[in-house]
Amino acid sequence: MQQVILERPGKFRIQEKPEPAAGAGEALVKIHRIGVCGTDLHAFAGRQPFFDYPRVLGHELGVEVLSLPTDGAVPEGISVGSRCAIEPYLYCGECPTCRAGRTNCCHRLRTLGVHTDGGMQATFAIPVRLLHPSASLSFDQLALVETLGIGAQAVRRSQLSGAESALVVGAGPIGLAVIQFAQASGARVRVLEPNPLRRDFVARLGVEAAADWSGFDRQPADIVFDATGNLASMENSFDLVAPGGRLVFVGLVIGRVSFDDPSFHRRELTILASRNSAGLFPWIIQRIEQGVIDTQPWITHRLALSSVPDRFPELPGQPQLVKALIEVD
Ligand SMILES: [Zn+2]
Ligand SMILES: [Zn+2]
Repeated sequence: MQQVILERPGKFRIQEKPEPAAGAGEALVKIHRIGVCGTDLHAFAGRQPFFDYPRVLGHELGVEVLSLPTDGAVPEGISVGSRCAIEPYLYCGECPTCRAGRTNCCHRLRTLGVHTDGGMQATFAIPVRLLHPSASLSFDQLALVETLGIGAQAVRRSQLSGAESALVVGAGPIGLAVIQFAQASGARVRVLEPNPLRRDFVARLGVEAAADWSGFDRQPADIVFDATGNLASMENSFDLVAPGGRLVFVGLVIGRVSFDDPSFHRRELTILASRNSAGLFPWIIQRIEQGVIDTQPWITHRLALSSVPDRFPELPGQPQLVKALIEVD
């Protein structure tokens, strides 16, 4: 079978490998779609922290079940031929954090396609507990569940209610995921985004967008989601929150974030971090099945698995890029 391996920054290579054998508790799946994420672009550029090469990328996966383990429990609704999303988070299940139900912040957490090899290949053997089926979603939709999860978790952490206002800073794929779940909560949602193409995209979702805060008459929001991963933006976001409000850092920056304490105290703000989405996959799949969340407009680029070494390097420079999907057919 074909596998695409990122040998070092800037260099993908295709290799032929024997099909993997499923171990105890593992399912064998055929990969149909692989979403390209910011993490993948950073790894290709050599900018992803704590990253080892060579690595098989791919953690946003729409798959078909080829075989199931006969030696253990198989999650409900999964049989050979089922279409599934893969939850790419390998948590230990034993540490106090996992036992408290916070598997998304397990301190031994490893992500498929980041810390261990992922899904840029034709078939894959993975623990069956990571599969989440849908009877009606397409492989395209299933490959976007993981990205959506980042937004779902951020909105869940914020406890945003329909009576509150939300401001999303940054409308890349992570910001878009936040926007969709914030909209679904019934809240008024506004977006700050300097890129006019992205602002147009957001406007088509029916969300108000401005290039900077003066575009909103400097009206603060009850909840601010910073989805930029940009230090200056994250520090600036403190000023956008209304008294008593919450600031959620969805994007991550490697470094220290500072803020003016009297201004923070005067408004009695709450800061929240949000990371991945372990545990939310069934709920997200249900929301897409219900039509509440629609990711079809996000898919702006498609490429075949075999063309990754040639075409992946073009992706970062594409101004219209929202989501690229790799097809394995
Ligand atoms: Zn991702
Ligand atoms: Zn753990």
